[in-house]
Amino acid sequence: MHDIKENYHKIADSLPPDVQLVAISKYHPCQHIMAAYQEGQRHFGESHQQELTKKASQLPSDIQWHFIGHLQTNKVKNIAPYIAIIESVDSIRLMREIDKQAARNNRTIKILLQLHIAQETTKYGFTLDECRQMLSSGEWRQMKHIQICGLMTIASNVSNQQQIQQEFNTAAQFFNEIKTTYFPNDPNFSQRSWGMSHDYHIALQCQTTNIRIGTKIFGERIY
Ligand SMILES: *Cc1c(COP(=O)(O)O)cnc(C)c1O
Repeated sequence: MHDIKENYHKIADSLPPDVQLVAISKYHPCQHIMAAYQEGQRHFGESHQQELTKKASQLPSDIQWHFIGHLQTNKVKNIAPYIAIIESVDSIRLMREIDKQAARNNRTIKILLQLHIAQETTKYGFTLDECRQMLSSGEWRQMKHIQICGLMTIASNVSNQQQIQQEFNTAAQFFNEIKTTYFPNDPNFSQRSWGMSHDYHIALQCQTTNIRIGTKIFGERIY
């Protein structure tokens, strides 16, 4: 626990004020989450619906939960009552389902569109062209219970810092394109979620607003 508090402050206290730290707590127990909570952290991220639902029921209700994993449409209803933001939205089908379940819960759910920029084929997300096409179709404008707040991406898992930087810069440029084209007067479209434990220092140079840090706060995950 002592380590978690120390790790947490090392990162949290060094960030510029306009960057949101999201503590990624997947595979870590509730006591570890509480260690960061007690230091003032309120934004936490999880990538599996069942694990998240269980933790959310046991932990303080003022935690802002970010969903960051691949989300199946049939799982949306389980998190719709309480999720703060779904960062990993990668299809129009998923958007329709989130809109529907948000309406059932009389609320609006914030989402980020996940981009597939990395070279790995295993990563989820819209390619840039798929994202352009989805937005130009205009169907999302009818979805009154979702609020598109920005973009999320995961860089390639490589040691080449220049490649990571290129990928984050591609995402940052694309953000500007989408902002100008579709959201020029919408202050909610403002979030750029990129950077994890091993590459957030690069993301900080590439206009990130949300860094998603697991290992550097909680230690290695035991799967
Ligand atoms: C697990 C995960 C993270 C955190 O990764 P660390 O390397 O432990 O910081 C960030 N983003 C996503 C989408 C993840 O799945």
